[in-house]
Amino acid sequence: MAKVTIVGAGQTGATTAHWLAERELADLVLVDVVEGMPQGKALDLTQAMPVVGSDVLVAGSNGFAETAGSDIVVITAGLPRKPGMSRDDLLEANSAIVREAVQASLQASPEAILIILTNPLDAMAYLAMKVGGLPRERVIGQAGILDSARMRSFVARELGVSVQNVHCYVLGGHGDDMVPLTRHSNVAGVPLTEALTPERLAAIVERTRKGGGEIVSLLKTGSAFYAPAAALAQMVEAILRDRHLTVPAAAYLEGEYGQRGIFFGVPVQLGAGGLEKIVEYDLNAEERAALQASAGRVRETIEALKL
Ligand code: NAD
Repeated sequence: MAKVTIVGAGQTGATTAHWLAERELADLVLVDVVEGMPQGKALDLTQAMPVVGSDVLVAGSNGFAETAGSDIVVITAGLPRKPGMSRDDLLEANSAIVREAVQASLQASPEAILIILTNPLDAMAYLAMKVGGLPRERVIGQAGILDSARMRSFVARELGVSVQNVHCYVLGGHGDDMVPLTRHSNVAGVPLTEALTPERLAAIVERTRKGGGEIVSLLKTGSAFYAPAAALAQMVEAILRDRHLTVPAAAYLEGEYGQRGIFFGVPVQLGAGGLEKIVEYDLNAEERAALQASAGRVRETIEALKL
């Protein structure tokens, strides 16, 4: 059985464990600094396994010894946003947490592939790659599956069709200037630009960009976790099952999309080795300009890391 560690057993980490345990993909280790909490959640999840019929082991720990030999380490440790905060406001506090989590994880599992969730996402993925001294194949950030799933859910409800018929691609940085690519998105093969009026499409694009903030202002005490965790589970599954699955996610760019030296949301193919390739879309001038603006914001946040 493969082994997956989830660092940070809070809302997103524990929910990721839940989605993964049900799929019987890997034994799981939950790590958190809060004493007893990861152990308690792991025990609870273990006791759900007879009911759902899954033979995976779930352990909880406040240290990394039990994580040794993990194939994948998912990092969700860090503070979430409060109402009125931007993701960038989390930079300072979360850099220290992610740095420590990456170092300890790699010490226990030197071959692991890292999947990062902690915000500000693009900067935290960059930090993880640099601190770990890893090749770009082994560090991927989750943002695009979530942002695209938000858009897919809005389109499906608007048109009264199955979510399975709706394909959307939201690229760029994981901030309010992310880039929903309407021309590349479609409903059962019909481009979104034909399936919806320009006004309805614009409203969905706007709601997608602010989708994280909408949930933060409703919850008041944290940020979204079901959909982010489902996205993480899809990435873990694509790697463990060597699916060669293309999804939008944050990858380190080396010239793709005209960008170099930043993590940025692009379509990536995931398989056993982690990042297998970056798919490059044909973009028009408007789409290129929107991505360029988003890349500028990501670059500023990465520079603020002062690495
Ligand atoms: P949460 O507060 O529920 O959980 C975070 C957990 O991390 C807490 O249990 C905390 O004790 C733990 N932690 C803190 N320092 C740690 C350390 N050094 N080692 C191990 N664990 C540590 O928050 P959440 O809702 O799970 O969100 C986690 C992070 O993910 C936040 O930064 C949030 O902004 C981000 N997030 C990103 C996306 C995305 O799409 N990229 C989506 C949702 C949340």
